[in-house]
Amino acid sequence: MTTITGTTKNLGVIGCPIAHSLSPVIQNAAISKSGLDYVYIAMPVEKEALAEAVNGLKSLGFTGFNVTIPHKEAIIPLLDKIDESAQMIGAVNTVVNNQGVLTGYNTDVDGFVGALKDVGYEIAGKSVAVLGAGGAARAVLCGLIREGAKEISVGVRNPAKAMAVVNDFSKYFPIEVFEWHDDAFKNKTKNANLIVNTTPLGMYPNVDAMPPVDFDFVSDDAFFYDIIYTPMPTMLMKEAEKRGHRTLGGAAMLVKQGAIAFKLWTGIAPDETIMMKRLIDSLSK
Ligand code: NAP
Repeated sequence: MTTITGTTKNLGVIGCPIAHSLSPVIQNAAISKSGLDYVYIAMPVEKEALAEAVNGLKSLGFTGFNVTIPHKEAIIPLLDKIDESAQMIGAVNTVVNNQGVLTGYNTDVDGFVGALKDVGYEIAGKSVAVLGAGGAARAVLCGLIREGAKEISVGVRNPAKAMAVVNDFSKYFPIEVFEWHDDAFKNKTKNANLIVNTTPLGMYPNVDAMPPVDFDFVSDDAFFYDIIYTPMPTMLMKEAEKRGHRTLGGAAMLVKQGAIAFKLWTGIAPDETIMMKRLIDSLSK
């Protein structure tokens, strides 16, 4: 553990609720291993207090901070600059304070893409089926478009609601939305090289749940990416692995987005292995 002194620089995460956040675990693991003089803390900030909190963090000279629910969208007008991915998604999860100039980023996009690249999977030219269309799906869609996916289909329980999300991306790429039991969507999964779950179906404590994937309508070489990180593996991953599919769970994305944020703040690439180890230790408690 790094000793906190008068010169220690501050990092943290704001959100509400925040006690469950795993960011302090992975970021302090990275800080400790790097030997840098930083500390990362969780800061509960209610909706109404966001503007005051952001000004406060700036006044206190925080090097940067993460942003989570419910502030990811609301923080945008409070910042000086917004990077391209965060603009495309309409949500910020990382802020860098450069001498009072606050810049917003969304590291979930590179976290999603980078975790796939680390296991040797390239999105370019692939047909992708995405399950769910909430906040996390926005980062996934942005990453898929940016990396050159050939085709993107979204399957959801409520297509009308999902249209609001997908319409935001239609100026960049044509995305089709389906009710996920629809035969038309099953035909899409049949041709999909990559199937991404962005719903919380299967997340702790409902570990026996999974999104409705009909494995009779899935190509033998389809790769399953479930961005849920608790449990690992999820029921969807277990079912896919039983049938010989390659899979990736959400812990890799969580660590990667944190590692990218760490580098934005400190200029140093952290040790992702120690971040993952501490995350897994923490999830298994
Ligand atoms: P969200 O905004 O609430 O969106 C969830 C999506 O799943 C929506 O399309 C929602 O449909 C659908 N959904 C939710 N419950 C459902 C149910 N019972 N049956 C069918 N569809 C359902 O959530 P989110 O922020 O995108 O997060 C989704 C998951 O991603 C969570 O498990 C979260 O932990 C995970 N995540 C992981 C990472 C990572 O780094 N690995 C990052 C972010 C999020 P409706 O619109 O119809 O409600």
